[in-house]
Parts: sequence; structure tokens; C-alpha cells
Amino acid sequence: MRPGSRRPRAAGSSPGAAALPGPGPGRGSGPGPGPGSGLGWRLRARLRRFTRLPAPFVALAAAAAALLLLFGLVGPRGEPGTQPPPPEPALGALLAPLDPQRLRERFLRPLLRERVPGGPGSRDARQHIARCLGALGAGWHVESDAFEAETPRGLVTFTNVVATAAPDAPRRLVLACHYDTKVLAPERGGHRVFVGATDSAVPCALLLELAAALDRPLRRAKDAGAEVTLQLLFLDGEEAFEEWSPRDSLYGARHLAARMARTRHGPHGTQISAMELLVLLDLLGAPFPAIHSHFPPTLKWFLRLVTIEQQLRRLGLLHAGPQDPPFFRLSPAPGPVEDDHVPFLQRGVPVLHLIPTPFPAVWHTLEDTEANLDPATIADLAKILVAFVAEFLRL
Ligand SMILES: [Zn+2]
Repeated sequence: MRPGSRRPRAAGSSPGAAALPGPGPGRGSGPGPGPGSGLGWRLRARLRRFTRLPAPFVALAAAAAALLLLFGLVGPRGEPGTQPPPPEPALGALLAPLDPQRLRERFLRPLLRERVPGGPGSRDARQHIARCLGALGAGWHVESDAFEAETPRGLVTFTNVVATAAPDAPRRLVLACHYDTKVLAPERGGHRVFVGATDSAVPCALLLELAAALDRPLRRAKDAGAEVTLQLLFLDGEEAFEEWSPRDSLYGARHLAARMARTRHGPHGTQISAMELLVLLDLLGAPFPAIHSHFPPTLKWFLRLVTIEQQLRRLGLLHAGPQDPPFFRLSPAPGPVEDDHVPFLQRGVPVLHLIPTPFPAVWHTLEDTEANLDPATIADLAKILVAFVAEFLRL
């Protein structure tokens, strides 16, 4: 991914706008507006109208809205008050199957090697992902989306992995990460290779751990014919081979989003319109991540993460204590970040981009290794995400 400049971006939301409590009741509950939809302008127009009201009324309304949002009374699907936090015993039972040792040893370690598109590490990573999901009871449907694309290094074969718990379910909560590694210039005189622990082996391992921890409830939901299922995207070719550009980056995401937009799903939609929300994980695993909301249409979902984190900290269920800086921040994102969500966002998919800004200090260096990961942060993120996914899917 690439940290974007502060210039206005095509998606129509400035970093400042992203921090505002944009979605009001009843707004943005379906697929969010895509690029060029002018959301930023509409939001600003609404704010202008708002500021013509008497000042005490504005202050009172703003305070009430802030409280509602802060305490997470707006549910994941924009249904105020319908998603009370689960009671402590239920939360404990939900989180109990998470296993940090399994995450690290079974899911993460085999990924900690070079995973350059088209190479043996990439092939082994895909086989590993398919094996891990295949061993679960939820009966994951795992497909490969292989294609060739022209790159600055010539023709390269890329392969995305698309795993769906219940392929026939009408709608999908999609979690995504990239599994390729950047090709770094060889170390002078050294033998180390770039293994991209945070970029993005840990996000891939988190997705596998989530699938394992939620295996039984996912199976039950599938058997019960639940409306919304879980889909996992392991994307190839996120990294640029040379200079980041629209043509040299996001190879897998661009190909898959275009393919999904052409692939029918259900009587009236496509695989893209079936995506209720795309949660993209990237650069996770280093200590003290600061993750911000990037898109006003999905702020309500971001606020659920804020609330879940606060609740787990209060209950003493995280390594991080109530006094530690939160992972999920209400402050504005320092700026936009170009990443695998872009081709999906451009097609109207609502996106939560879970990426720390600033990036980890080890980003795109040979130091992005297991030794520099923070297991406590990874375990805490896994708990927050499991609670979020279970709530979203009503597991
Ligand atoms: Zn990278």
C-alpha cells in the first residue's frame, strides 16, 4: 500500500470528513456510495444547513449524536439500539476458542517467508491457506482466481484465494488481506529476505484464526441458512514491483473486483453487490497500532470496533489496559492510504480499512519479521475482530 498525499481523492471523502460522525440514522445502511458520488460535498452541504440552526440546539444535538456514536448505540447495520453488547459470560464463551499459540505456530509461521507472485513461496502460502480452511468443520468453499498480467518485470502469474463459508447465502461480510510480499532490493552481502510479517502475514493469520475460532457458529449459521455469510479474500500482487502506480500495484484486487462485478450472485445482483462490507486488514502485528476511520459511510461499523475494544478493555479481557492508547481511534486519519480496497470501493462496496497510520516502523524493511511483532497486540486484535464478526453475522 502507499500512504496517499493530502490531495483530495476520487473517493470523495477528505481525511477531515472521515472523522465526522457522518452517517445519520437510516443513512448508508446499504452499499455505500462509490467514487465520484460526491459524498464529501453532500456532507458539507448538510453541515452548512445544520449550522443555520440556533446555536444551543446545534450544541445539544451534536452532544447527543456524539454520545450515541461513542457508546455504539448504532448497530452494525445502522439499526439503532438493536445490537446491545453481549453479556460478559457470552463474550467470554465467544472468545474462548481463540488460541494465540495456534495463530502464531500453525497459521502464521508457515507464511513467514518470501511470497513473491508466481514464486514457490506464493504457491506454498496458497496451499497453506487452503489446507488450514479445509481442516475446519464449516465446509469452506475455496477457489483460486489465477490470471496473468503485464508488470515492469514482464508477464507474471497472480492467484487470489477466495474462501466462502456459505457460497449460496445472499450476502457477505468480507474480510481481506494480501498475502504477497514486496520484492526488495537484495541486502548487500546479506542473505536475509523480506518476509513481510506485518505486510501482510499477520493479517492472513488473523483471518485464519478468526475462521478457526468461529468454526462452530459459522457451521450452525450455514446449516440454518443465514442471510449473511463470511467470505475471506487472500489477495495476490498488492505490492508494486517498482514505483507504485495505478498499473503497478493492486494486481489481484483489480482483477478480482472486476471479475466479481461480472459474476452474478442471486436473482438480481453480482458478487460485488452481495458484499455488505469489506474489511481490509493490512500492516497489523506491530505494537501500538493507531487505526482510524477512513470512510464516512462505514463510520458506524468503525464505531462498533471502538466500542468493542472499550468493552473488552473494561472487562480485563485484553492485554492492553484501559489506560493504554486505543487501537481504534476517533481522531481523523492522517491521510488516505491506497490499498486493496480501492477497486472494490470504486464499485460501491462499503469499506473498513484496518491499517495503522502511521505505518509500523519496520514497514518495507528487512526488519519486518516475527521478532518485531507484538503477540499481545495480535491476540487483542483477534479478540476485537471475533466479537465484531460474531455481532455482524449474529452468530
Ligand atoms: Zn507492503
